[in-house]
Amino acid sequence: MQESAEIAIVGGGIIGCAIAYQLAARGHRGVTVLERDRVGGQAAIAFAGLLAGAAPGHRADPFSTLASASLERFPGVAADLHQRTGVDPELRHTGALYLALTADEETALRLPPETLRQYHPECRWLEARELRELEPEVSPLFRGALYVPWEWQVLSPRLVQAYARAAALGGVHIRETVEVRGVEREGERVTALVTSDGRLAVGQVVLAAGGWSGHVGRLFGLSLPVGPLRGQIIRLAAWGPTVRRSLYRGDLYIGAKADGTVAVGSTEELASFDRRPTGAGVALLSRFAVETVPALGQATFLDAWAGLRPLSEDGLPLIGRAPGLANVLVATGHARNGVLLSPITAEAIADLLEGRPPAVDLAPFDPARFGR
Ligand SMILES: Cc1cc2nc3c(=O)[nH]c(=O)nc-3n(C[C@H](O)[C@H](O)[C@H](O)COP(=O)(O)OP(=O)(O)OC[C@H]3O[C@@H](n4cnc5c(N)ncnc54)[C@H](O)[C@@H]3O)c2cc1C
Repeated sequence: MQESAEIAIVGGGIIGCAIAYQLAARGHRGVTVLERDRVGGQAAIAFAGLLAGAAPGHRADPFSTLASASLERFPGVAADLHQRTGVDPELRHTGALYLALTADEETALRLPPETLRQYHPECRWLEARELRELEPEVSPLFRGALYVPWEWQVLSPRLVQAYARAAALGGVHIRETVEVRGVEREGERVTALVTSDGRLAVGQVVLAAGGWSGHVGRLFGLSLPVGPLRGQIIRLAAWGPTVRRSLYRGDLYIGAKADGTVAVGSTEELASFDRRPTGAGVALLSRFAVETVPALGQATFLDAWAGLRPLSEDGLPLIGRAPGLANVLVATGHARNGVLLSPITAEAIADLLEGRPPAVDLAPFDPARFGR
């Protein structure tokens, strides 16, 4: 049995796997991922794979800056993963449409053209006619849409598998069905993890346990205000033309994939750790799909899923040093954007593990901010 790890990552979701990949790519040895279940986590069902970030209108806040930095890194990361593993995460530049059905929705989205141009030269409001020219399958009932050119899509289940595979090929020890149940400490240092498969002495630890981070944090003596926010998603198989761009209306969205599958998500529910889809959730998403793209009424229903997003008290991720612990880092709380934020989180955590200042300002995401 393995007895020690230079760096142990608790949680093999997309954040843990992205960090493991980044460390392997930088030549680190002695890295172990401990995953209670199978690697993949919630990203394995985040079928839409929308790389969106902050809603238009919030383009200058810290979250948006982090999201943009992550999006910039995506093409390089996707190409590198493909080359290392042979797994293509199918990154596609799609752009997005934020749809308005009511006058109030139009008012909220119809920002002044000079503001939109500051975001991107092609970002603009589309009248109903232009919307139909661009996406003929969208319902004619919509008044118009805000066109956001900078968004992409990826196949999240494939991306997380590619991260894990690249990590394993780079020497990372991935241990599935191993649960972290306790820690051993000497003063401000965690010296070992107590797992369902024995004791693992550790040099440094990264806590990346998603919606379970609050629970896992308590094992470390940390008070991390992170819990699960359930999201449901359905998949349809469309046999005719659908849409190319990501479509949003409020919290709901449609992401059509190159293979004809269409992901429709996603609810937001405080439902503890229950990962089962509900009748109400599936009904809401189905209705939204058909009202938005009527042709989806003829699509085949494939399946329905529910996952738990890690949501922090202030809605922002926690990326940085754990308060009061010298050798523990935290990477969690990515809520609706863990797929999008995986490259920048992994880069920043690897920098911190190496004692280097990250390229992005992590102050707004400091895990210690809640104790202040
Ligand atoms: C329906 C849905 C759609 C989504 N769509 C998108 C999208 O389009 N774009 C986007 O960017 N994001 C999306 N997200 C959000 C994204 O999926 C999450 O932010 C992301 O998956 C969180 O990753 P994570 O690694 O932090 O957590 P998780 O994926 O939850 O991984 C944490 C892992 O830690 C493990 N673990 C917990 N406790 C222990 C322990 N004690 N010992 C060992 N292991 C442990 C768990 O088993 C789990 O595998 C979506 C989420 C949902 C639910």
